[in-house]
Amino acid sequence: MADKRDYYEVLGVDRNADDEALKKAYRKLAKKYHPDMNPGDDAAAEKFKEASEAYAILSDPQKRQQYDQFGHAAFEQGGGFDASGFDFSDIFGGMGGMGDIFSDLFGGGRRTRNPNAPMQGANVRARVSISFADSISGCTRNVDVNIKDECATCHGTGAKAGTSPKICPKCRGTGQVTIRQQSLFGMMQSTQPCPDCRGTGKIIEQKCPNCAGTGYTSSRKTIEVTIPAGIDDGQSIRIRGKGEPGLNGGPRGDLLVEVRVASDPNFIRQDMDIFSNVEISFAQAALGGDLRVKTVDGDVIYSVRPGTQSGTRVRLRGKGVPSVRNKDIRGDHYVTLTIRTPNRLSDEAKEALRRFDELTGNSLNSAADTAEPKKKKKTFREKMKEAFDGD
Ligand SMILES: [Zn+2]
Ligand SMILES: [Zn+2]
Repeated sequence: MADKRDYYEVLGVDRNADDEALKKAYRKLAKKYHPDMNPGDDAAAEKFKEASEAYAILSDPQKRQQYDQFGHAAFEQGGGFDASGFDFSDIFGGMGGMGDIFSDLFGGGRRTRNPNAPMQGANVRARVSISFADSISGCTRNVDVNIKDECATCHGTGAKAGTSPKICPKCRGTGQVTIRQQSLFGMMQSTQPCPDCRGTGKIIEQKCPNCAGTGYTSSRKTIEVTIPAGIDDGQSIRIRGKGEPGLNGGPRGDLLVEVRVASDPNFIRQDMDIFSNVEISFAQAALGGDLRVKTVDGDVIYSVRPGTQSGTRVRLRGKGVPSVRNKDIRGDHYVTLTIRTPNRLSDEAKEALRRFDELTGNSLNSAADTAEPKKKKKTFREKMKEAFDGD
């Protein structure tokens, strides 16, 4: 023990390294020296073990303090370092199968799920489609889902009436079996789910005819879903306890209902605001006047100011989308006013418009006075014709 290297030195970090730095340094070393990457290399295996031990100590604030104070002596009394209680899983999430190596290296028990422990059931997903208007006001919808329930005949055991599941003789009910294999560290033990009972720890000899031994029956059920005002397209509503049944007395999973909101021809939603376009006449824009505007609360009257330009955006405060948490809090509605150019005028209206033009700057004749006659623009058809003729 006396020639043990300093843990900080092993990881190549300084004594003030924070958790993130420790983790990073350890990950790098672990990848480099992992026995799987270095088959048959005892030196690499030793380095891997050394780095793992250093990390296990330094990443634990209490142990790190002891180490800083007493050095390796801090851990010598109890027979040295013991990694069996250390959870390396978070650091090896995504590295696949790395957890197993520690039980091999340090002789500790591998952490596996006890098949008899209560476990929450799986979530069930469903989807509903609603209109834009319903997403603003909130609504209720019925959703049909297949719901698993404990089988009434066998009460979830899966065994035929008058029989009961037997404890699996192969794993003695633990759901795990220990496998011994030869490896580079000598004879090793590892645990795997029991193949006879598929990890459940129980064997059903005579299956319940009602559920074919699964312990569950499925039925189509209608569930009423309350959709809050302000829900946006793609958001989900969680209904607790309406998912699949739990195992060994665990709670049921949840039902997650995804809400699809149809688009609306008049309104576009962005977060809590609503946007729309309204056309106004040239006269309305120039002279001002009351305008009827569609909102999600119904039509409102908006007073257009005299001299409004095309593209002007006005805000209708509080006419937007309600917050899903508090429907009294609402966004705004922005209306873009676009001036509509008349395209079917009577002779009388045309005449009035010419007269109007004369009175307001004579724009219709301004080009004729100043510039030479403009070349007529070629049409697309003429251009195409030219292109082919020149060929
Ligand atoms: Zn049954
Ligand atoms: Zn078994």
